[in-house]
Amino acid sequence: MNTQLHIYNTLSRKKELFEPYNPPYAGMYVCGPTVYSNPHLGHARANTVFDILYRYLKHLGYKVRYVRNITDVGHLENEDIGEGEDRIEKKARQEQLEPMEVVQKYMNTFHRNMKELNVLEPDIEPRATGHIIEQQQFISRLLDEGMAYESNGSVYFDVSKYNDRYGYGILSGRVLEDLISNTRILEGQDEKRNVYDFALWKKASPEHIMKWPSPWSEGFPGWHIECSVMGMKYLGKPFDIHGGGMDLIFPHHESEIAQSTAVLHRQPVKYWVHNNMITITGQKMARSLDNFITLDELWSGDHKLLDRAYEPMTIRFFILQAHYRSTLDFSNEALQAAEKGYKRLMEAIDKLDTLKASGKSTIDVDELSGKCYEAMNDDLNTPIMISHLFDGVRLINSVADGKEKITGDDLEKLKKLYNVMVFDILGLKKPGQAGHNTELTGQLIDTLLELRQQAKLNKDFEAADRIRKRLTEMGITIKDTKDGAIWEL
Ligand code: ZN
Repeated sequence: MNTQLHIYNTLSRKKELFEPYNPPYAGMYVCGPTVYSNPHLGHARANTVFDILYRYLKHLGYKVRYVRNITDVGHLENEDIGEGEDRIEKKARQEQLEPMEVVQKYMNTFHRNMKELNVLEPDIEPRATGHIIEQQQFISRLLDEGMAYESNGSVYFDVSKYNDRYGYGILSGRVLEDLISNTRILEGQDEKRNVYDFALWKKASPEHIMKWPSPWSEGFPGWHIECSVMGMKYLGKPFDIHGGGMDLIFPHHESEIAQSTAVLHRQPVKYWVHNNMITITGQKMARSLDNFITLDELWSGDHKLLDRAYEPMTIRFFILQAHYRSTLDFSNEALQAAEKGYKRLMEAIDKLDTLKASGKSTIDVDELSGKCYEAMNDDLNTPIMISHLFDGVRLINSVADGKEKITGDDLEKLKKLYNVMVFDILGLKKPGQAGHNTELTGQLIDTLLELRQQAKLNKDFEAADRIRKRLTEMGITIKDTKDGAIWEL
């Protein structure tokens, strides 16, 4: 059996054997959310993908430190050019809240949604605003190195100087000429030596709320600097794994590499791992297309693109049925297929629990186990691993039907294999454990049906129909019988 994990490294553009700097320790930094809006399908995918990597590394015996940050300042609207309003401040103005109220509100939602998806918590969740001093120290180092310059109270990274010494664009493959032709010229650009220089520290305008004193001005850090600083602070210089969505490769991760290399004089990260994006019925997700589906909308079915509500475990299974480096296209049909697959797998596990030893094995459990590990070791190939589990489902059914036989030892091995692969590594939960309390759900539905019955007696048929309609939209089937209404989830 191949027990060695190979992972695709965006830096080398090939699959590499995973060898951390200090085994058995492994360090992993993943860019977390900018907390100014509700988490959507894209957040579900990125965080589920890195949850699988975290779970699998732990399963292989590594002592993993998983750091996932919260960006609570400095992420500007037009990040490609480092201009525009701070996303959190903008939301605070729109909702008439303190910026830190915005942060708290959306951070809480993010945590709840991740729990619903059974995504494990990181070991450290540092916040950008909690590391302002460290970011300032880092900027001073860059100024000392001659890789940054001050201009009108702001500090910029000198990309062309960096390019001369270290070579810019190692991760994204972009060269400076590309950047010039792709950069839009907006106000504030005259502060920079070159249009592609990015901000390390921005002087705040008088109306700006989130600002801190610094040697250069009252201002706030640029977006890229926090991840360089917090990654190295908690994981070392250099560290093992840095992850995020492919949309972060440029400019965010490319800028991180430049800043950190300029200070360390070597590559800051060994493996750069990126997950691909979610498309919505073939289209890119974009605010302008109005096709962002938040996770709460998925759980409630309350979005024009949704036929009905979906369980968090259906979403998780849907995500894991695609390889993390492939695009994943959302559609109601695809989700309903995923839901069927997930249920079939769970039913097989229930059946497995009832099987009895039946004699000399006619099925090869070791072979099945080897195939599952082989798929995971091949760049976390969860779709292939799941297809092996479904091959196993056919075997489980054959043993249950008496067409195949299994010894007691093999049966124990098979049960352990499904427990490890399905619950520990894929992180799935059985229905009913999936993010909500079934007993409570049952009581709530019963209460609603009582209200509906009461409404009917009061001849308020509109209210009665509304309750029925809402329950149906949530995927609850209601049947009226002579003994009253009965329901099925
Ligand atoms: Zn980041």
